[in-house]
Amino acid sequence: MTKSLLLLPGDGIGPEVIGEVKRLIGALALDIAVEEALFGGAAIDATGLPITDETVARACSSDAVLMGAVGGPKWAGQAYDRRPEAGLLRLRSEMGVYANLRPARCFAALADSSSLKREFVEGLDILFVRELVGGVYFGTPRGIEDIGGGERRGVNTQVYTSSEIRRVARTAFELARGRSNRVCSAEKSNVMESGLLWKEEVTALHKAEYADVELTHMLADNMAMQLVKNPKQFDVIVTDNLFGDLLSDEAAMLTGSLGMLPSAAIGEAGKPGLYEPIHGSAPDIAGQGLANPCAAILSFAMALRFSLGETAAADRVEAAVDKALTGGACTRDIGGTLSTEEMGTAIIAAL
Ligand code: ATP
Ligand code: MG
Repeated sequence: MTKSLLLLPGDGIGPEVIGEVKRLIGALALDIAVEEALFGGAAIDATGLPITDETVARACSSDAVLMGAVGGPKWAGQAYDRRPEAGLLRLRSEMGVYANLRPARCFAALADSSSLKREFVEGLDILFVRELVGGVYFGTPRGIEDIGGGERRGVNTQVYTSSEIRRVARTAFELARGRSNRVCSAEKSNVMESGLLWKEEVTALHKAEYADVELTHMLADNMAMQLVKNPKQFDVIVTDNLFGDLLSDEAAMLTGSLGMLPSAAIGEAGKPGLYEPIHGSAPDIAGQGLANPCAAILSFAMALRFSLGETAAADRVEAAVDKALTGGACTRDIGGTLSTEEMGTAIIAAL
């Protein structure tokens, strides 16, 4: 059956980088039905809302959603539910995407732009699986309260249930089977009850269903150190929302530019995934043809792999990006002079 992809170009450089994905889809000649809708500031200008009910429904009934980026100074001062970012949080929660996949992969041609020496990062290929909808960012009680005597208290609560831990750990084990078959789970089980539960649940699931995958555990602070000491020791890393936020950003800097980094958010098998470049709408370079389209193109490759059943096409797209870079094609952010469109053309030519 023909799979469907909903494109949400969004704001700033979003439409520019998604434009290159559209050209690539044309060149790949795949059996995919592509639709498009307004999102973020562009949707606010047209409808008053960052995302309409109709767009949410279309997203939930498609096989994959690929976003550009949302936001910009024009919409920053609005009430919260009229801000582009509120539309993104609504979309994530309605799609039920609880596992955030962030690859930290180093392309050979860019190994010298890493913050580490080439020998440490060449061939690096880590996949972070970060829990996205639970933990301390969402736990209750939360708030700031007056406690008398001029003192105030700020409270956040780290809460995880066994099922929340198991479902994201399952995603990590499943993904590891298609890679080097190794999972490292990061927590702070030495000082946090939620971390202890995390370790116990991951261990139990591993024993019951994924004994063929190699599982190791690491304290999150040690992992922060190991990522800059010897990053190539890792394959799949599974961790909670807070540690995943920090550690995946740290790992991102091992691979070079923001313009190269894709991401995915996925939920239950068979439900649509939400794919997006890590970067924002980059108002400072929007409309100038300077944006690097690689992060959006690599996010599309993740959609092909994880939601659209097109593994071979995903491999082709990733190899084409690698080949174009090796051939010297580079936008300004990665040390070259190509425009967004010229970079897209180089990748299509490398297919
Ligand atoms: P947001 O809050 O939307 O995430 P941000 O403040 O993190 O935004 P970005 O929009 O990601 O910022 O941009 C950060 C910097 O990186 C800017 O200088 C921007 O021009 C640059 N940048 C971001 N994405 C790209 C890209 N695809 N190509 C080239 N430069 C980029
Ligand atoms: Mg940002």
